[in-house]
Amino acid sequence: MAPPYQGPLPVRQPESDFYWEKTKKHELWLRKCMDCKDAYFYPRDFCPKCGNRNVTWIHASGKGTLHTFAIVERAPVPALGDKVPFIVAMVDLEEGPRFPTNIVGVDAKPENLSIGMELEVTFLELTEEITLPLFKPV
Ligand SMILES: [Zn+2]
Repeated sequence: MAPPYQGPLPVRQPESDFYWEKTKKHELWLRKCMDCKDAYFYPRDFCPKCGNRNVTWIHASGKGTLHTFAIVERAPVPALGDKVPFIVAMVDLEEGPRFPTNIVGVDAKPENLSIGMELEVTFLELTEEITLPLFKPV
């Protein structure tokens, strides 16, 4: 059994409880404005574009494309020392939002990545409370 995760964790907020409950079930959900029809991330109870509070949740497809990436060679905190090198990335989700994440399922080398490549969500259970959505090549 792997030792318990000791790295940094997202801090759950009332506005994001639904999101984290869904990631535990390996589902990616986004907020969507019912007025301007834009989906957005991170979860907030108002639309960041028009300010409206007429918003809902949508079950995202989990599909996206690589917008940009960087390969982290030096651990930003000691607890991630055995994780480097790893890939941080921004993924353009099919529903519109640009999503900060990690790319997994490939060695962390530039030749394994290309801007625009197709990706799909996968999930990493860090703790009992936090399951992170990550992306891997299709
Ligand atoms: Zn809006």
